[in-house]
Amino acid sequence: MPGHNAFMLINGKPIYESSSKSQKPIINPATLETIGTLPEASDVEIQAALNAAGKSYQEWSNTSPARRGEMLHKAATEVRANVEAIARLLTLEQGKPLAEARGEVKAAAEALDYYAEEGQRVLGEILPTNKSDTRSLVIRQPLGVVAAFVPWNYPVSLAAWKIAPALAAGNTIIVKPASNTPLATCEFVRLLNSCLEPIGVINLLLGSGAKIGPALISSPVVQKITLTGSTETGKQIMSLAAPYLKKVSLELGGNCPIIVCRDADLEAAAQGTVYRSFRNMGQICNAINRVYVDRAVADTFLEKVLARVSKMTIGDGLRDPDVDLGPMATADGLEKTLAHLEDAVDKGATVVYGGKRPENAGPGYFFMPTVLTNVNHQMRVMTEETFGPLAPVMSFSDLDEAVALANDSPYGLVAYVYTSNLKTAFVLSERLQFGTVGINNVTGGEVAFPYGGWKESGLGVELSHHGLNEYLALKHIRITLL
Ligand code: NAD
Repeated sequence: MPGHNAFMLINGKPIYESSSKSQKPIINPATLETIGTLPEASDVEIQAALNAAGKSYQEWSNTSPARRGEMLHKAATEVRANVEAIARLLTLEQGKPLAEARGEVKAAAEALDYYAEEGQRVLGEILPTNKSDTRSLVIRQPLGVVAAFVPWNYPVSLAAWKIAPALAAGNTIIVKPASNTPLATCEFVRLLNSCLEPIGVINLLLGSGAKIGPALISSPVVQKITLTGSTETGKQIMSLAAPYLKKVSLELGGNCPIIVCRDADLEAAAQGTVYRSFRNMGQICNAINRVYVDRAVADTFLEKVLARVSKMTIGDGLRDPDVDLGPMATADGLEKTLAHLEDAVDKGATVVYGGKRPENAGPGYFFMPTVLTNVNHQMRVMTEETFGPLAPVMSFSDLDEAVALANDSPYGLVAYVYTSNLKTAFVLSERLQFGTVGINNVTGGEVAFPYGGWKESGLGVELSHHGLNEYLALKHIRITLL
């Protein structure tokens, strides 16, 4: 009998079995064992979640921002007290090493604390008018019920990046995690629910996005849709929302480049490249997908990269919490990685490290971090999001070529540059068509700074006070002094 069953949370109540009785297994990607089951929502649960979120909205939106902040801080404290339990579930279902899972849960608590405060600083404006008997006030108000769709790569922190600002702004929410990683989210949402009043402010639905998505998006109860997921799903959601002109925020796929200049600190650049290419097995939207290095330093840089990659440890992150890499999270993800690798090799790429399963790995979706050279933009690995542990390295002759190669993509999430020249740092940051540019760092999303994709990487931003505004509507109040 599986030990970890996922539950929906509707109007404060856990639901382990949907009225349709439909359910799916949850698999540990390190061992391929079934660790539990997930109930799939039927129309009954979907309607119940809509009712609960709709009913609680009036009271929650009228609760003072300070009181809402107090409850969100309490939730953060509860989450911190349960980091270990949530992190173990996360490693079990997603595969990332336990040390990283703990970090993810702590980041989720940090988002709750941040928006508990930021929600109290929703400022309006009084704008000057051209009439002496008129005053103009601009205020921001919550939108209503939010439907939030979350992927499997960072299920807890990415859920928190939606839940915290949505609730802090005075909205209520229905969260839909990915079906392969529900367990840590269930526990996270259960803890939040225990700290929030009234009941029904936060609800959790499980099951297929193809069923739950259209049902929530078309409901008149839902006023805002937010997704972190693939560009393909983002386009589907946008077209589902279009007939109703509903507000949509989309955090989508990436194909992130790093440019290593000839004047860069090559040791730091190699460290950044290895960390950001392979962390979480490359299953990160801001993972480095494409490495462009100045021809003059390419050999030295590659040596430094290989020295670091060859020291990486791989294993089951529950048994060895401090291992560098776990398995990939899904069979599909591993298959796509292999397809990109095969395509590249067929077109002339050289595998200089990895390219196969590690020896003595368990039965799970393990794969070695892999470095490729002799790559070009005819290969899928350079033009599509792999979402796996492949680092293709290509040389460039001058900075114009490097920028052109980096911008040669429909994606525009994050770009990285390593240089010791201040002018190069500024000029490249301004020319790169990406929502975030990291200069001499490969830092990921941090709660206080805006994170959003250009081009097909998204719409709107998450995090920071800008992210809060995605859950608020502007209202102009025009007063004539009669
Ligand atoms: P996905 O798009 O397959 O699924 C994301 C979520 O959307 C899941 O909960 C899924 O069930 C749901 N969904 C699927 N179809 C839906 C529909 N029609 N309506 C509503 N919901 C639907 O993505 P994934 O495979 O879980 O995650 C990987 C992708 O997420 C990658 O492309 C990655 O780059 C992206 N991602 C982006 C960011 C970012 O901040 N930009 C962060 C993490 C991951």
